[in-house]
Amino acid sequence: MAISLELPKKFAMNIDQARQAALEVFRPISRKYDLAEHEYPVELDTLAALYDGLSAAGQAGAGAAGGRADAEKKRPEGVVVNGGNMQSIINSLEASYGDVGLMLSLPFQGLGNAAIAAVATDEQLERLGKVWASMAITEPSFGSDSAAVSTTATLDGDDYIINGEKIFVTSGSRASHVVVWATLDRSVGRAAIKSFVVPMDTPGVTVARLEHKLGIKGSPTAELYFENCTIPDDRIIGDEGTGFKTALATLDHTRPTIGAQAVGVAQGALWVLAILFDVGGPFLFGSAGWRLVPGHFAERHGLIILIALGESIVAIGVGVSGLPLDAGLIGASLLGLAVTCCLWWAYFDVVALVAERKLRQATGRDRAALARDSYSLLHLPMIAGIVLLAFGLKSTVGHVGGELAIVPAVGVLGPYVGLIAPCIRATHSRCASWMDEGSPIP
Ligand SMILES: Cc1cc2nc3c(=O)[nH]c(=O)nc-3n(C[C@H](O)[C@H](O)[C@H](O)COP(=O)(O)OP(=O)(O)OC[C@H]3O[C@@H](n4cnc5c(N)ncnc54)[C@H](O)[C@@H]3O)c2cc1C
Repeated sequence: MAISLELPKKFAMNIDQARQAALEVFRPISRKYDLAEHEYPVELDTLAALYDGLSAAGQAGAGAAGGRADAEKKRPEGVVVNGGNMQSIINSLEASYGDVGLMLSLPFQGLGNAAIAAVATDEQLERLGKVWASMAITEPSFGSDSAAVSTTATLDGDDYIINGEKIFVTSGSRASHVVVWATLDRSVGRAAIKSFVVPMDTPGVTVARLEHKLGIKGSPTAELYFENCTIPDDRIIGDEGTGFKTALATLDHTRPTIGAQAVGVAQGALWVLAILFDVGGPFLFGSAGWRLVPGHFAERHGLIILIALGESIVAIGVGVSGLPLDAGLIGASLLGLAVTCCLWWAYFDVVALVAERKLRQATGRDRAALARDSYSLLHLPMIAGIVLLAFGLKSTVGHVGGELAIVPAVGVLGPYVGLIAPCIRATHSRCASWMDEGSPIP
């Protein structure tokens, strides 16, 4: 069976939102919380409220509103309803591209929340679905081998008494609850392991210390002690009678988001690497180290010209707005538009085509020099000329019939600035090669 690697279209908006949060919320405060390790990032409260709202509206958040383990069983035949997990993964990936430490610090989006969301019964979800829960599996004696749990939960009437030590608990010092893996009987092995939702204010729960880490410092990693913590028996999550399988199901729903974090971080690292190559190349190898794609380069510069020309049309509109419409005003506006159209034609039908073709033909150091001279340097006076024109047109069409003042008069001559500069430049640069050649337009 073929596997489709395309992301469903319904998540496009989700990706945009998460990427926006990564770049506009996480990145700006990333360094701050790297330096202020263990400090609570208050800026995330607003974002958490937003995610909470999205969860309530049925659009999953960064983790807590992840998929349900029984979603497969409950779906109508032939209908894919389990989008929650994928949405959590996408959120995790995109947010981690911004800062994985801050992503892990989002209130109410803890790993424990995802565990509760995945396996809690409907009644438990109603009761515990809105808490902020961290996840405590790892102990000093084991990590990957999650069946080696030594924290105990001993039945005492209707209560369980939990004793043990957990390490590496993400947000363990901030969350209001913690999902603890504990064994009912160590001699039975993995079948006796269950997950308990323990409020952090339960007597006997202590945050022993916070780790000092090399990275993801915005996220506190806690060591927790449980000494004779008494909790009611309805805090075991999952259907009654299900044991380690249910505990493991929480991992099914949380580990993929951890993998997604790594992908997000890798994307960020690739981005930094690309920038380093981009900026470092010319530093190391001079203009020969400047790798540019002619089509992209020409298109970007064309877009800037397009925006400037658009602005000059807007300027005409602004200049005539509120004035009584007469033949003079209409004529002046049309003339202004005609000038703009001529510039548009001159650039996009002549200059841009020839320049791009020349850029494609050039190679190595010549291409870099041509790009620098004919694009980066010459586009500045061109844009300045169009901006001057816009300014001049605005004032001129606003005073049709009156004397042309000196400032607008200089303004309408703006395009000449854009023309003179290339000509001066062309006389002693590589631009001369394509300007003089008079190549036929393709
Ligand atoms: C920043 C951070 C946050 C964390 N947050 C949490 C949390 O919120 N809750 C929680 O419970 N835990 C958390 N952990 C703990 C994490 O789940 C464990 O670190 C992880 O399970 C690995 O355990 P370990 O570090 O003891 O490594 P080990 O289990 O000792 O593994 C070491 C290496 O050996 C390999 N290995 C292990 N067993 C095998 C095997 N059978 N065959 C082949 N290779 C093997 C592993 O792949 C790994 O490369 C966190 C850890 C970190 C670093």
